[in-house]
Amino acid sequence: MTLSLTNTLTRKKQTFEPLDPSDVRMYVCGPTVYDYAHIGNARPVIVFDVLYRLLRHLYGESHVKYVRNITDVDDKIMARAAEEGVEIDDLTKRTADQYHADMAALGALPPTVEPRATEHIDRMISMIERLVAQGFAYEAEGHVLFNVPKDADYGKLSGRSTDEMMAGARVEVAPYKKDPMDFVLWKPSEAKDPGWDSPWGRGRPGWHIECSAMAEAHLGDTFDIHGGGIDLCFPHHENEIAQSTCAHGNDVMARYWVHNGYLQVEGEKMSKSLGNFITVHDLLEGWQGYAWPGEALRFNMLRTHYRQPLDWTLKGLDESHKILWDWYGVVEGATADETPPAAVIDALSDDLNTPKAIAELHKLANAKQGGALLAALQFMGFSGDRLQLERKATDSASGEVDAAAIELLVAGRAAARQAKDFAEADRIRDELVAMGVVLMDRKDPETGEVKTDWELAR
Ligand SMILES: [Zn+2]
Repeated sequence: MTLSLTNTLTRKKQTFEPLDPSDVRMYVCGPTVYDYAHIGNARPVIVFDVLYRLLRHLYGESHVKYVRNITDVDDKIMARAAEEGVEIDDLTKRTADQYHADMAALGALPPTVEPRATEHIDRMISMIERLVAQGFAYEAEGHVLFNVPKDADYGKLSGRSTDEMMAGARVEVAPYKKDPMDFVLWKPSEAKDPGWDSPWGRGRPGWHIECSAMAEAHLGDTFDIHGGGIDLCFPHHENEIAQSTCAHGNDVMARYWVHNGYLQVEGEKMSKSLGNFITVHDLLEGWQGYAWPGEALRFNMLRTHYRQPLDWTLKGLDESHKILWDWYGVVEGATADETPPAAVIDALSDDLNTPKAIAELHKLANAKQGGALLAALQFMGFSGDRLQLERKATDSASGEVDAAAIELLVAGRAAARQAKDFAEADRIRDELVAMGVVLMDRKDPETGEVKTDWELAR
């Protein structure tokens, strides 16, 4: 079985060859813990969870090490703690706990190691010392900065020109910088802020050095796969490579750089100002009239290939839920085959082609091959259990059930009846009844067409 992955470094789909098949190593950038994870943050977690499961299948469970960090020192954390008037430790602990609960609900396995930035400050300091000693970094006004022109390879990952990088990095012009592209490795802390003693005075690390130090600590100077969202490719990953290769005196930090695409909501960029900002917590607790099961969220994410932009829509999520519900009916009472079907493994091994794998699952469901379907579902992180798939109707803030969600179901029932799929029509009716919706079918006296009115039983 050959695994291929698209490598951002080479811009090619390549056969994956680990440095050591008995110790396959992967790093994925984790959350900065100050707020709930939004749905865009969940995408790399789900994508790299599928890759982690596949690597474990191909190389053996004990031969794969997956490191995903927690950034628990950051200016955003400090700002949020001050805003809420809480201790930084309380904020980061609460947020990390919530993150773990949300990601578990999405069916993501915990990583092998989950290092925290604040537990690796000594290593960051020693890495910065090495960079200064070798002339790649310099101290200025209590800051230590990486001097970008010293690294001839800078920009290779993102393939951007200096002008593009300047625009993309929203370069901050500071008087103490030798070059506008230079970025912070260490900065001074005021007495009220978190800080650690260092050769450059009391301060705290920049964000980029955190990942370089944690990757070095847990995966060594060079490892196999570095993953994350495409939004991190520049400047974060470019900076990680610069820091690590210059500190280690080598050319390669990670051999395969794998990036998932952007996520939009209903065709628009997700943003707080547009009011379409969705957290995983929102979806699980209540979004568009429902508390959505984590498995439906996971499935909806995997229907789009990881490299493509993903459009998160209510319609898509509703379809995803319905497909899983049908499949879970097919596997009811079945015993999972011992090994997942080869066609599914093949599809996933082809650059994590989840849409192709899902097409294989559709074939198994149509052929009523419950044992094979269940094995495939479980392999991809799904339970196959309808109890895990219950979608509960929720009241919105105004106390009203979301009318749009009900309309969608009513229309789905009408379409099913038109297609003479009465089992599906009945299933939707039951779901509506469970939501407290009363349906009233009536025949249009002129056209003979059946119309459905609905109201809420109160
Ligand atoms: Zn990182």
